[in-house]
Amino acid sequence: MKPGGRERLDELLGGRPELAAIAEDAFRSVESCSDKNEIDRTRVRLLGKKGVVSSVFKGMADLPPEEKPAVGEIGNLLRALLEERLDEKSVLLDAAEVEERLRRGAVDVTLPGRKGPTGHHHLLSRVTADVVSVFVGLGYRVVEGPEVELDYYNFEALNTPAYHPARSLNDTLYVYRQDPERDNRDDVLLRTHTSPVQVRVMESEKPPLYVVSPGRTYRRDEMDATHSAMFSQVEGFAVDRGITMAHLKGTLAVLARRLFGADRKVRFRPHFFPFTEPSAEMDVSCFRCDAAGCGLCKGSGWLEILGCGMIDPNVFEHVGYDPEEFSGFAFGMGIERIAMMKYGIEDLRVFFENDMRFLAQF
Ligand SMILES: [Zn+2]
Repeated sequence: MKPGGRERLDELLGGRPELAAIAEDAFRSVESCSDKNEIDRTRVRLLGKKGVVSSVFKGMADLPPEEKPAVGEIGNLLRALLEERLDEKSVLLDAAEVEERLRRGAVDVTLPGRKGPTGHHHLLSRVTADVVSVFVGLGYRVVEGPEVELDYYNFEALNTPAYHPARSLNDTLYVYRQDPERDNRDDVLLRTHTSPVQVRVMESEKPPLYVVSPGRTYRRDEMDATHSAMFSQVEGFAVDRGITMAHLKGTLAVLARRLFGADRKVRFRPHFFPFTEPSAEMDVSCFRCDAAGCGLCKGSGWLEILGCGMIDPNVFEHVGYDPEEFSGFAFGMGIERIAMMKYGIEDLRVFFENDMRFLAQF
């Protein structure tokens, strides 16, 4: 529509109050439309064949001839102006709708975010880390070794003779065995303890050595409340000049107190391991009953924690150390056992069943 169209219309409507009222009503009904459907209905009502504008033209038939050009012009202007205004209004409603949709779908960046579930370390990893961190604090280094191991490192170099029951097919999971009737240093097996790491480290380095070695180990056990074919160990050893049993006792007492409380006492009972001499098992005074006797310690007041001993001179000979020059101690403990005692867990299987109701408690 040309500028001035509305002024011209108003000029023509002056003195024609009936037509002016019809026009005013038509413009007002366009302005009051609140959605696109209403625009469509209004368009038909104003501009359709039987619409308001048509009725203006039809009324011309009864007018005197000199009136007809002006009323015809009013009808044309009205139609053009209403069409224009309906289109504008339609665009405005579109824009408003988009704005409303944006407003409803908008993200308020100042709101706190929704939290997803947060995981944490498995209890066995936690206890392993607790043990390892005590030794790291004492200056030990962490070394890991292969879980699939040679017979040589798992048994032979650790002074475990051929007749030792641990070497039988009944106790050890072999991956490859040359001769089922005989042991061979090249047989391949799943390591039964983390001690092979001792041999591997000593073979490639010279003392002083202070090493702690966590990892998984395997034995041919049926799964029940206290046995598993896979379990976790932390092994450690120290080799230096002048290492004595006193160093072993002092070091492991520190471990026991860090794990179970500053008031814990420890005791050492003679034991046998092929790769240490003398060997011992270490008990810690029961942290639950303070050594008075309870269900956890089975009334004895003591809990068995680990095996240890002075490294056997035969092991040193395997790695080429002079047992007259160097001495050392070694120790190893089962992580599941420590976790079960510390957290009052009675069935080993819960560690491996991945039941979130259990795992989420720690
Ligand atoms: Zn107790």
